[in-house]
Amino acid sequence: MKDVEIYLGLGSNLGDRMGNLESAVERLSEKVTINKISSVYETDPLYNTEQPMFLNAVLRGVTRLAPLELLNFVKGIESALGRQPSFRNAPRLIDIDILFYGKRVIQTGELTVPHPHIAERAFVLVPLAEIAPELVHPQLKKKVSDLLADVEGKNGVRKTRMLGQKVKLIAEN
Ligand code: ADP
Ligand code: MG
Repeated sequence: MKDVEIYLGLGSNLGDRMGNLESAVERLSEKVTINKISSVYETDPLYNTEQPMFLNAVLRGVTRLAPLELLNFVKGIESALGRQPSFRNAPRLIDIDILFYGKRVIQTGELTVPHPHIAERAFVLVPLAEIAPELVHPQLKKKVSDLLADVEGKNGVRKTRMLGQKVKLIAEN
């Protein structure tokens, strides 16, 4: 299997949110060579708005894992970090979403890639545009920067001064 470029979205709104992102990045780096990571953003929750604010970030890496292997790998990290199965859009210690897997379009019961909600989520598009504004969405055929221009709720996504720096160090090592 050859290396494929992937983008992952990370989110946490329970417990030590920054610590959860850091642990996720550290564990991901066992099977994903991370080569770029966005700043960490604090974001207002969408959908279920009666829950704590999230920290979100997006990273780019390369992996040899096949799509479903990658999905199982990230789900394993979610449970290892203590995420309990819950309802949709519930607060969570860590959420890891596969945003893009190369230019592949995948639709199975378990996995939809590109992630189906990218275009409506400022908490994904703001960090994604920071690291990959020119990336073209393989289904929508639009650049990330253009998707960002059209998305609502960008004012609910604020760059933190919290140390995404530490996350960066993990990614660079
Ligand atoms: P959400 O992130 O939508 O709140 P979950 O993280 O609980 O929900 O994911 C629910 C299911 O979504 C996972 O069990 C997984 O099989 C499925 N899924 C489909 N496509 C993707 C994707 N691109 N990235 C991550 N999970 C996905
Ligand atoms: Mg998820």
